[in-house]
Amino acid sequence: MSNITSQSLTSLVKNIKDKKLSSEEITKSFVDRSEKSKELNSYITEDFSNAIEKAKKFDQSPNLDLKLPGIPMAVKDLFCTKNLRTTAGSKILENFIPTYESTVTQNIWNEGAILLGKLNCDEFAMGSSNETSFYGNVQNPIDKDLVPGGSSGGSASAVSGQLTPITIGTDTGGSIRQPASFTGTVGLKPTYGSCSRYGIVAFASSLDQAGPMAQNVEDCALLQEVISTYDTKDSTSTEYKRNHYSKELNKDIKGKKIGIPKEYRVDGMPKEIEELWQKGIQYAKDCGAEIIDISLPHTSYALPTYYIVAPAEASSNLARYDGVKYGFRAKGENLIDMYEKTRSEGFGAEVQRRIMIGTYVLSSGYYDAYYLKAQKVRKLIKNDFDEAYKKVDAILTPSTPSSAFKIGEKKDDPVSMYLNDIFTVPVNLAGLPAMSIPAGHDANGYPLGLQIIGKAFDEQGILNISYAMEDKINFKNKITDWWIK
Ligand code: GLN
Repeated sequence: MSNITSQSLTSLVKNIKDKKLSSEEITKSFVDRSEKSKELNSYITEDFSNAIEKAKKFDQSPNLDLKLPGIPMAVKDLFCTKNLRTTAGSKILENFIPTYESTVTQNIWNEGAILLGKLNCDEFAMGSSNETSFYGNVQNPIDKDLVPGGSSGGSASAVSGQLTPITIGTDTGGSIRQPASFTGTVGLKPTYGSCSRYGIVAFASSLDQAGPMAQNVEDCALLQEVISTYDTKDSTSTEYKRNHYSKELNKDIKGKKIGIPKEYRVDGMPKEIEELWQKGIQYAKDCGAEIIDISLPHTSYALPTYYIVAPAEASSNLARYDGVKYGFRAKGENLIDMYEKTRSEGFGAEVQRRIMIGTYVLSSGYYDAYYLKAQKVRKLIKNDFDEAYKKVDAILTPSTPSSAFKIGEKKDDPVSMYLNDIFTVPVNLAGLPAMSIPAGHDANGYPLGLQIIGKAFDEQGILNISYAMEDKINFKNKITDWWIK
């Protein structure tokens, strides 16, 4: 069967269940394409020969009742994988081989999937372009001069370039949705507490969430169904009745109320983003949804709030990397000297910047003025959403304020890099679920995404809206395979 790598997850699963394809054939196809795609730099660590061995084993006694039977898959290098190096895109974890497995990846293997390797990401998931990775930047399959977004840039590049049928990323302030939008793929950031954080390298613990990235909404629903479980190993995991998201997927969204927040119409937003939003509104209406203007008055405070809360938590989480417990250690004259050298050589510039901001806003004297105030504003942002959801079922906005930018374009200007997160961070601060779906192209043919934000734990609601809209949008990614060697 030709064109295995261009098939959706759903069709690969069907072909395996119908015995039209073997796991070995599928795995070899993705390995072969990944081997020819080194230029994208999507992988940090490959595990290809093991993957093929596991596929052969699967075929010997296939369990076809599983949800991901013999499906190969690469994952973001922020998920700890037992006995396989996990770097978080950092030099400081260059030699870190976990002795345990993250719950989310364990759920995936339990359903029969096979690990292909670990995908590139911004260092400790801090970034919007994958340029902060110690392992080099990643190219966007759409165009070699473009960033794939970040921090799940390797994941987005690998799905869009068809090096993996599906993947998982993490989203602390937009790291699933923004790269999905930049690469013409679908990404879901679940409700905080939906997917376990156990075994995920921590960035900002009150914001981090794992989620699926896929070529289409149906695949995304299936993977969400697999990864979202209650987990006693994560004290913030929430126990509630989870849907069978893929089975309950439904295009009938007639009468659903969709809110359009006026505060997301920001100054200097490119015309094409406004046009995309208008088109999105029309698509939603064509699906039978009712459009309602709403207000989220504290939206403009979300970005500064995020850039206090996230670095504060990061500075605390990253204190554990001291050259003693994990990974890289530099030689020092004495203990303090060793700590200092390890951390200044082991962390890159962006991570050091965040640690400095974080320790500053948590220091006595500044705690009340910055951190505590940010926590109060965070509550106001959450209240805005609570108010809005008295009137609407979901909210529709653009995913990002621009299409993918050029490699190097924003690298030396952190503030303009941070501004890219303007539409995604409010969702993390409020702990809500949100999806990005590809919805159009800019004048250069680069993809643009729309964001659908849901009520807490209503992943099914936003999956259904996305499913209905996807059908109307009929998006086609413009990929030419320019990188294939
Ligand atoms: N781009 C944002 C940041 O740099 C979000 C990152 C993320 O979601 N992991 O913090």
